Amino acid sequence: MGEWSEYFADFPEENPANWINGRFDPQAAALSRQREAAFEKADREGNAELRGMISTAKKKIKARSLLVTEDCPQCGLRTLNTYRISKDFFLCECQDCGLYGKGMTHEEALSQTAEALGDGLDWREEGSLF
Ligand SMILES: [Zn+2]
Repeated sequence: MGEWSEYFADFPEENPANWINGRFDPQAAALSRQREAAFEKADREGNAELRGMISTAKKKIKARSLLVTEDCPQCGLRTLNTYRISKDFFLCECQDCGLYGKGMTHEEALSQTAEALGDGLDWREEGSLF
């Protein structure tokens, strides 16, 4: 690596990083790389902010969609929340063991949740279905 950087210091026109759009222009090439890095950084930060906003909005929707809290078929605790996210989207999530399931009706969601018993599901690790 040291040898290459010495070589490129002596022959900058041989360094591909000094070329931009087929033209030898070390300053423009460096500026272009900086700009690209800045765009990528802004993109990453923007995505993180957007994910945060979506996550907050979904938590609010969940909070106001809570239909009932029942006994979980897996852990037996009264921690199985059923949310009615929309007219025909019911979601069960145990707040203790993480078991979950969904359905078009409350019964269907409960039944899918019960069928997943013992499968080791955890909506907190795998991501909520909503
Ligand atoms: Zn449970």
